[in-house]
Amino acid sequence: MLQDQEAHAAQMERTFIAIKPDGVQRGLISEIIARFERKGFKLVAIKLVTPTKSFAQKHYHDLKERPFFDGLCDFLSSGPVLAMVWEGEGVIKYGRKLIGATDPQKSEPGTIRGDLAVVVGRNIIHGSDGPETAKDEINLWFKPEEVTSYTSNQEKWVYGVN
Ligand code: GDP
Ligand code: MG
Repeated sequence: MLQDQEAHAAQMERTFIAIKPDGVQRGLISEIIARFERKGFKLVAIKLVTPTKSFAQKHYHDLKERPFFDGLCDFLSSGPVLAMVWEGEGVIKYGRKLIGATDPQKSEPGTIRGDLAVVVGRNIIHGSDGPETAKDEINLWFKPEEVTSYTSNQEKWVYGVN
């Protein structure tokens, strides 16, 4: 079944994915990137940055009433974070599936957190939870010129676009 270019373009989404300081320190960058890459998603932005605490507070602003908020922001700003934007059909929702449940004890085997993490406070990866947060998080972490736009040669094979 061939999909036309327009239908494919209309379904393309972008999501913000970050490997937190624990994932970077544990040497899991290539393992995590490989899972998104092999699936057929396309990397369109990437950088290694150590966010300030106030930046971490902005990133997690939705959680500011939670008891773990302060510790979470201290942790996110404690070392390098690999910030990325991934593009693909359904990438926002499916990215969350690849990542697994927030608490690694409840994440299914086969997911990133299920396979590679044990406790909720060190669950190695962040992924946007919906289209609005994806847009906000991409804008928070990246300048527009840092996000690339290109056609991958794989796309006709991944999507069956003619
Ligand atoms: P996520 O979207 O799956 O990352 O989960 P949330 O948006 O609910 O929470 C953001 C992050 O806060 C999680 O990834 C955890 O690192 C942390 N977190 C969430 N719940 C807890 C908790 O109960 N205890 C602790 N220590 N950290 C938590
Ligand atoms: Mg979240």
